[in-house]
Amino acid sequence: MSNTPSLAEFGHGTVKQEGRSATGGRPLLIVLGEYSNFPAFDTVHSLQYYELLGFGNPASPFSTENPVNPASLREYFRENSNGRFWFDRVGIIGPIQLGVYSGANDPGPEARSAGILSRVAALAPEMFINADKNQDQHVGFDELCVVLFENITNAQPANRINNPIHVSGDSWSGTVQVHVAGAGPLTPFYQIAHELSHSLGTVDMYNTGQGHYYLTLMSGYDFYANDQGTVHLDIWHKLVLGWAEPRPFQLLPRGTAEVREGADGAILLWDETRRADEYFLIERRRSNSPSLKYELSFPGDGVLIWHVQQGVGNGVEHLGAPNLTPGGSGVWGPGEQTPLLHWSDGQSTGVRITVTGIADGAMQVTWDN
Ligand SMILES: [Zn+2]
Repeated sequence: MSNTPSLAEFGHGTVKQEGRSATGGRPLLIVLGEYSNFPAFDTVHSLQYYELLGFGNPASPFSTENPVNPASLREYFRENSNGRFWFDRVGIIGPIQLGVYSGANDPGPEARSAGILSRVAALAPEMFINADKNQDQHVGFDELCVVLFENITNAQPANRINNPIHVSGDSWSGTVQVHVAGAGPLTPFYQIAHELSHSLGTVDMYNTGQGHYYLTLMSGYDFYANDQGTVHLDIWHKLVLGWAEPRPFQLLPRGTAEVREGADGAILLWDETRRADEYFLIERRRSNSPSLKYELSFPGDGVLIWHVQQGVGNGVEHLGAPNLTPGGSGVWGPGEQTPLLHWSDGQSTGVRITVTGIADGAMQVTWDN
């Protein structure tokens, strides 16, 4: 038995902000910035929607009206992290009246958000002051996250760092520079959660092969839609964020394991020739899990097979059924078998994967030639 690389060598817990892992609660401030030359926020959604979107604890089905029962950012991340990470409510500020928006004079999102956050600081400086957890007179990426809604019709969701602002109160004076997830008045939950996740260090996966649609929060989605489709992050993101511990197995000569939901339900297949540089992750996924609320848009019932090359841009790809299509969204269901898996240099691994349904919603995964 050779010595298995540690989960840390495979990337576990390596994605951090300012050296801090995404564990426990992180303060989240939601700001509504309202321009006079676009429809007011409350003509699109009731203002209660924003409170529930940030910090509700809804039962599904989710909806934005009749009843107002949107998916919840706090609970979405709690479920994805296996209960290890969530957002704590700082507040909902606004709508702050910003006057006329002029595209021609737009200084860009970094400056716009700085201006709006300065307005927040004038109204409620404690929202920033209380976030300076390490008392260094600076509120940074690991201390506060912001979602900024602006009522610009067809605003594209994005994540930008605000130009630093200066804040002072009776006993505190310092700077605030954070990740600001930006959204519009009619941005779907998926995009809001996607942009907010970038504040934790997630990376886009829509640029790979067929784009991983509906397999992970880091794929693409409609920009403007009043829908509440939800899907989890992929197992690689959960690994690197420190939210899951896949069980490692050697790829050769052969083996079999149960794959199920939960923090240690996925498996990691590695080989002595590549060790932690390149490996496979297999996770159980389905839209109708009895224990998950935020997987309803997942397109199937089976397992996903991810190929990971560490330290390579776009180096994480799903191998879609039935032909191992890079970035493909084909889910591997019970009774299916893959062609032989290959390494990135084209060399065969010598094994193929077979998936079999077993009891209690788990799947038996076998790797052999
Ligand atoms: Zn993105």
